[in-house]
Amino acid sequence: MYNINNRKIELMSVNEFLLGWEEWCKLPQLGIPALKIKVDTGAKTSALHAFSIETFGSLSKQKIRFGIQPIPENPEFELYCSADVIDRREVISSNGLTELRYVIETEIELGNYRWPIQITLTDRKGMSFHMLLGRQALIAFPEKIEPLVIPSISFKQPILSYSVYKKFSHQKPIKRSLRIAVLTREPDSYSISRLIKAGEAREHVVELVDTRRCYMLINSKNPEIHYDGKPLPYYDAVIPRIGASLTAYGTAVVRQFELIGSYCINRSEPILASRDKLYSHQVLAREGIDMPTTAFASSPKDTKSLIDLMGAPPIVVKLLESSQGKGVVLAESKKAAESVVSAFRALKADFLVQQFVKEANGEDIRCVVIGNKVVASMKRTAAEGDFRSNLHRGGKAEIIKITKLERETAIKASKILGLGLSGVDMLRSQDGPKVLEVNSSPGFEGIEKYSKINVASMVIEEIERRTASIIRSRKFKRIEPIE
Ligand code: ADP
Ligand code: MG
Repeated sequence: MYNINNRKIELMSVNEFLLGWEEWCKLPQLGIPALKIKVDTGAKTSALHAFSIETFGSLSKQKIRFGIQPIPENPEFELYCSADVIDRREVISSNGLTELRYVIETEIELGNYRWPIQITLTDRKGMSFHMLLGRQALIAFPEKIEPLVIPSISFKQPILSYSVYKKFSHQKPIKRSLRIAVLTREPDSYSISRLIKAGEAREHVVELVDTRRCYMLINSKNPEIHYDGKPLPYYDAVIPRIGASLTAYGTAVVRQFELIGSYCINRSEPILASRDKLYSHQVLAREGIDMPTTAFASSPKDTKSLIDLMGAPPIVVKLLESSQGKGVVLAESKKAAESVVSAFRALKADFLVQQFVKEANGEDIRCVVIGNKVVASMKRTAAEGDFRSNLHRGGKAEIIKITKLERETAIKASKILGLGLSGVDMLRSQDGPKVLEVNSSPGFEGIEKYSKINVASMVIEEIERRTASIIRSRKFKRIEPIE
């Protein structure tokens, strides 16, 4: 029997912390509830068996994720962990070779004690212990007493069981750092900087990916997205911010991320559906969402009849892909409506005509919906002389309390289109809320300013909730715990 600093041993003092040469421990911060370890005072550093080691994040705050097989006899069972990298160090491994290893810091729970230790990550496949507890970790033991290792004895501390892994696929997963991509062409915009800040505040890594610079390798086995000459890494989640000018290519990129298995808060199909005002109106109307009466015709011969369908003027004429109010025109008379329609036709632009909701008074309501919740809302009022309340058109906004029906309508509209994050615009009409559009890349600046709600952080929280189950089902598919 000897202690780790080769000091004299006080036998059987009450405060002893005795360890056998093999023990069970937990690594709670890595989400490992049971692991058999070899306590080896002959080794300086501790080592954990890890595979698929991948670092991410900035150099100053580097993170690492890796797979571990906690049960040596059942290597099929894998868990994925993430941690902060604290160092990269040369370590002489048991075969005498020098190896450059990543070092992480994480807490170990052994018997009644829990303390932070440094662990190096290395491939210990085939070894009977997937973790080695070295001298440094024992020296780091914070209590007054020192751990004593008895090399001839096994299990002085409580014996745990691998059966805890049986329940694993149902358990709430531990919080882990995610690697999140924001697809955007406007890296300097308010919304993007808020997403980065919110992600980092919650310990994730948020990387900006310029949608237009992505190119894709399409095949059935191993689809890839390339960027700047290299394949992009795997992202746990993607936040698409696809502008109207890049809908087709942008949604193709999103679709590729879906194929690879990243969680996309807005998937390609819902983005396409919401972008096309006519299509989304049809889908929403089919599900009973109220909207201003809308019509569309293909042939110029039908323009007059189309406008007649709208009843008394004024009439709104809109480009199908309008955004920020840019393609929305108010025609005061039927004649004016006809001229706008023929002008759009001459430009080969797709459009719709719509009844003007006069009682809305140049006001509309913007609700930001995340998942199935309205997280923030505001009322926007058009600038003097305009009927379009878009903030980009000089509209003013204020905080507002929405009605139950407005809330339900916004959630339902977002859900029908299948968006995880949306901005639903509604008019307050005599007959209740009328949905104007569902926006798949709602801006955060106005809504955060007026509602005083941290919308960006709520987006990240939604991603955490959603990727939790995805990571579980993707990674834990093969779970076949023993015992
Ligand atoms: P965009 O996608 O360009 O924002 P919208 O359909 O949302 O197009 O219309 C822009 C703004 O014009 C709305 O926020 C609303 O204030 C006003 N507006 C649009 N359609 C109507 C309508 N039918 N009746 C009254 N106001 C409308
Ligand atoms: Mg709008």
